[in-house]
Amino acid sequence: LLEACMLSSNGMVTERGDDDIRIVSAVGEPTTALAIFDARCDAMPSDDACDCVKHLLRIYAKHLHLLDYAELDTLTKLNNRKTFDENFDHFIEIAELAQRKEGDERRDENDEKMSRPCWIGVVDIDKFKRINDNFGHLFGDEVLLRVAELMRKSFRASDKLFRFGGEEFVVMLRHVSPEMAHMVLDRFRKTVEEHEFPQVGQVTCSMGYMEIQPNLTPAEILGKADQALYYCKENGRNQIQCYGTLVAQGLVESATAAPTDAALQADIDALFD
Ligand code: GH3
Ligand code: MG
Ligand code: MG
Repeated sequence: LLEACMLSSNGMVTERGDDDIRIVSAVGEPTTALAIFDARCDAMPSDDACDCVKHLLRIYAKHLHLLDYAELDTLTKLNNRKTFDENFDHFIEIAELAQRKEGDERRDENDEKMSRPCWIGVVDIDKFKRINDNFGHLFGDEVLLRVAELMRKSFRASDKLFRFGGEEFVVMLRHVSPEMAHMVLDRFRKTVEEHEFPQVGQVTCSMGYMEIQPNLTPAEILGKADQALYYCKENGRNQIQCYGTLVAQGLVESATAAPTDAALQADIDALFD
């Protein structure tokens, strides 16, 4: 249909059916169509009506472009940081619902699924500066594009993906058990590790992740995922770490835990040194 639109003089295809007339046109340029307009009319539309539809579709295509521009990262077309900030309250509501369902005793199978926690993972490409330095910014951008593509392929359509800027990405998983969260996040890390990037060869990434706890602020949740990411970077990179597990194992100190008297005394001593 899009090919037929391209070949037609007014960019539209009109087909006479048994009972009605079908009008088809691309929303945007046919080669990069954002959507397809497909309508039925009782009678063959006049040239003026066709012109009017074409103008409306042009306005609609511009509207879609503006939405994309505002909500998506221009390079990778993943959601941008602004979209993340605007939607985080909604993620917290989903996580809150999961907690409520978990406490509910009369749960059916669907409730059981919805009671599983939600997760946020912060992904950072390892030694990305070296890629830019060795191969140039364009190849660096190509790596970012491919990583975004691998993210799209690795995660489900219901998982939310973001590029936070630079070589940092965020993924939000909803309603998965801790084991499953670890499994799918690590599968993504492996996919990146095994991918052959043009010219650059192997690229690895590290990821810190954290359960979305509704009682925490977005900054606290991201901060904790970042702490787990920092642990990965300090301990060899190309790995994923869960903040809760690191705290339970005593490998990372919980930022919200009250400082010990000894730590406070050390801070005071440092002030007067
Ligand atoms: P680490 O393993 O510790 O994360 O090291 P790194 O080199 O990945 O981290 P660092 O923060 O030192 O470097 C990130 C680099 O990413 C620096 C910056 O020039 C580059 N960068 C940021 N945004 C873009 C972009 O849009 N395109 C390209 N090609 N490079 C970018
Ligand atoms: Mg970084
Ligand atoms: Mg990095």
